[in-house]
Amino acid sequence: MHPNSNIQMSGKYTFTMIKPDAVRAGNIGNILAMINNAGFRIVAMKYTKLSKEQAGKFYEIHAARPFYGELVDFMSSGPIVAAILEKDNAVADFRTLIGATNPADAAEGTIRKLYAANVGENAVHGSDSDDNAAIEGNFFFSGLERF
Ligand code: UDP
Ligand code: MG
Repeated sequence: MHPNSNIQMSGKYTFTMIKPDAVRAGNIGNILAMINNAGFRIVAMKYTKLSKEQAGKFYEIHAARPFYGELVDFMSSGPIVAAILEKDNAVADFRTLIGATNPADAAEGTIRKLYAANVGENAVHGSDSDDNAAIEGNFFFSGLERF
């Protein structure tokens, strides 16, 4: 806990996707168990598939990056699980649980260390800020789909 517990270090919500590689590999259950065991509560969840256009929109902040085209193709290549998760310090704690973007650099015991193949096909998404968690959650879920 922060030494001054009156300071709110960050928000309670993050957004995740179990990416097409992890779905294809049969790891939905294993990854959800790790999320559950780490103390995250599921606020919203769906099994769906992004079109190329939708994947391009979701990742548009990366549009200028050299990997953008591959990323959009990959993220629209099969079904995903999208979810909003709740926990104190959700964004940072979830980034810790998933590990580094490149699984070669990910800490032991992280989701990406266990289930990701490479820097592109890396099993899971996790929001990088409270603002993006809200934007990303709103991309997938209406108010009626949150509990
Ligand atoms: N990515 C990639 N090559 C790279 C960096 C990223 O294919 O060199 C993909 C990867 O799927 C990653 C996503 O683009 O998860 C978004 O990149 P970001 O830097 O935001 O990583 P993340 O926040 O997912 O750890
Ligand atoms: Mg990111």
